[in-house]
Amino acid sequence: MHRPLLCLLFICWLPVQPPAVADTLLLENVRIFDGTGDRLRDGHVLVEDGLIRAVSEDPIPLPAGGTRIEAAGRVLTPGFIDLHTHIAGHVPVGLESRHPVVQGAFAAKVARFYLDHGFTTLRDAGGAPPALARAFESGELEGPRLFPSGAVISQTAGHGDWREIHEPHPVLEGRSPYIGGGSAVIVDGVARTLAAVRENLKYGATQIKIMGGGGVMSDFDPIHTLQPSPAEIRAAVQAASDWDTYVLAHAYTSEAVTRLVENGVRCIEHGLLIDDATAKLVKDNDVVISTQLVIFRSLAEMPGLTDRNREKAALVLEGQENLIRLIKKYDITTGFGTDLISSAYKRLPQEFTERARYWTPAEVLRQATSESAEVIRMAGKLNRHGPFGEIREGWLADLVLFNENPLEDISVIEVPERAIALVLKEGVVVTDNR
Ligand SMILES: [Zn+2]
Repeated sequence: MHRPLLCLLFICWLPVQPPAVADTLLLENVRIFDGTGDRLRDGHVLVEDGLIRAVSEDPIPLPAGGTRIEAAGRVLTPGFIDLHTHIAGHVPVGLESRHPVVQGAFAAKVARFYLDHGFTTLRDAGGAPPALARAFESGELEGPRLFPSGAVISQTAGHGDWREIHEPHPVLEGRSPYIGGGSAVIVDGVARTLAAVRENLKYGATQIKIMGGGGVMSDFDPIHTLQPSPAEIRAAVQAASDWDTYVLAHAYTSEAVTRLVENGVRCIEHGLLIDDATAKLVKDNDVVISTQLVIFRSLAEMPGLTDRNREKAALVLEGQENLIRLIKKYDITTGFGTDLISSAYKRLPQEFTERARYWTPAEVLRQATSESAEVIRMAGKLNRHGPFGEIREGWLADLVLFNENPLEDISVIEVPERAIALVLKEGVVVTDNR
């Protein structure tokens, strides 16, 4: 065969670009924030086969074939974690479409944005298909490690019932209970709840998200409403715990949070209107309150809201300072979450800055690393990855090398191309600004 033609055929048969391979990297002279403490310590870190192979104050020999990076006193932190994303919910208002192709295109864009800001793990609080997590994991698609919840589970007229007011009920009309391009499932009753949870688990959800009370962006449910019934909550919790995982639930009020906690929910999302007694109940039951600051401060200005949505946004925001006080008073695990939807994802770095008004930079960095990792570990045996969220020998090499010190001024993350030199996800360089 003629040689150029052979080459041409060969090129055609080449497989697509193989996933990036984790390199052997020796980070020398770093100042380490390991994800747990308050201060930096000097040392050297060896990354090999996707893992943190060695952390030492003494020099580490460079393995054959490895790459030496002289960090010259730059700060090294674990990769960041966002506990509340909707990675498939970023189609801007005006381009409004829940078509999966459009959602997927924007999900890829936002995934890149997260990597550029040092985020190596996301817990999706509903809407993203678990297949997206597998795509990121394969390395074929660039994105943080994703812990998907699958479709959010909502009762009729609950926070996940995103129909138009006169749109017929899918189940009562004999159609599929999935709405919004599969991002939510409308279920009522124990049997349908069990089926919806198990269906999510079948697809690969690592935890289950239920709508446990009134919401801001939904049209039918006032904030005070209780959703769903205790028996339905227990059914979701049972089906999740049978797979060794847990339920996280959207809720604001004391009444809703009390019902959820008493029926086995282990992670409350938002929680802005709880009172002191409910905060104590949360702490006594070792439940997490995963809350978010920036989204609630910007919600009322977001395009596409009705007057009713805006009223509800103002109502829940009133509780935010009190909730922060209660989280601190009872030392409730909160982690780091954003809930930024649509184009609001661009506010991601502001979540650090806003938190630093209430917590020290080291505390905020702990929230975004070890504390969030602890929450994600509640997925038990469904967490197929090794340990991450701290700089420790044997843990996954999710690392951020900073040019500027976030412990001195956490707002440096707002300009990542200047503040961040390198981001590693499982030992693979995913962002390089050197
Ligand atoms: Zn959310």
